[in-house]
Amino acid sequence: MLLGVPYDGGTTYQPGARLAPYEIRRLSALVQSWHPGLEVDVFAGLRAVDGGNVAFPPFDREAVRDLVHREVAAIHGAGAVPLVIGGDHSVALPAMRAASAAHGPLAVVHIDAHLDTSGPEVWGDAHHHGTPLRHAIKEGLVVRDQLYQLGIRGPWGTCEDDGLSRGHGATIVGTDEISVRGAASVAAEVKRRVGDRAVYLTFDIDAIDPAFAPGTGTPVPGGLTSREAFQLVRGLAGCRLVGADLVEVSPPLDAHDRTSSLAAYLLFEMLAVLASGPDRA
Ligand code: MN
Ligand code: MN
Repeated sequence: MLLGVPYDGGTTYQPGARLAPYEIRRLSALVQSWHPGLEVDVFAGLRAVDGGNVAFPPFDREAVRDLVHREVAAIHGAGAVPLVIGGDHSVALPAMRAASAAHGPLAVVHIDAHLDTSGPEVWGDAHHHGTPLRHAIKEGLVVRDQLYQLGIRGPWGTCEDDGLSRGHGATIVGTDEISVRGAASVAAEVKRRVGDRAVYLTFDIDAIDPAFAPGTGTPVPGGLTSREAFQLVRGLAGCRLVGADLVEVSPPLDAHDRTSSLAAYLLFEMLAVLASGPDRA
């Protein structure tokens, strides 16, 4: 079930992600059903439903987290898989909390330019779009050795920025390594290592190069191509995906709908993964 969270109060630089659920839905009109790569008819195999947007008071961040958590938990409770459309990356924390509450500690595939493990020392606040993975690790939502951070690149504040992730046994694969090894081969390794664990995918659009995804608030050059991004998601087919989000698309910063269109197709890849298994695989 799709669930929009039009919230960008966790943004540290340029806002606009609150408008993404509307624009991505509009561009999704171009998406069709047959996935030639995975050989699956996505909408024949799945009952995909648009659950609308979470309604929340925009000035109360705690209420936003609580309401997102409650709505996502209700989707899990109904035996469905939530696909959350952000919003900024702070909305991933309540979605991961709800997924972990329903399925136990998770294998987390985090595709992003940034590690998102910042602490309150960075902006004087424990909750913004650079912190969701910090909370997820510290709250025990992620199985040790089962955090995969893909598309990460610099520059960083210090050489210690990956300390929390490394201390939790995270596998960090930067864009240089992905381009050398091939995105499909990186995804195959992730798939092999997660095995039959419950997998949560959190996808920050700024993992993709600004040339392909200019509509985002904190762009970083040197990113994934859109093809590599598709391969990373598609390669998870057969995994037990229990939840996912796509965050940080900012339509006001976009050019000719490029980023919103890419986001709609990335959501299709996620749906194709759901339609492909693990029951089907
Ligand atoms: Mn990012
Ligand atoms: Mn992020």
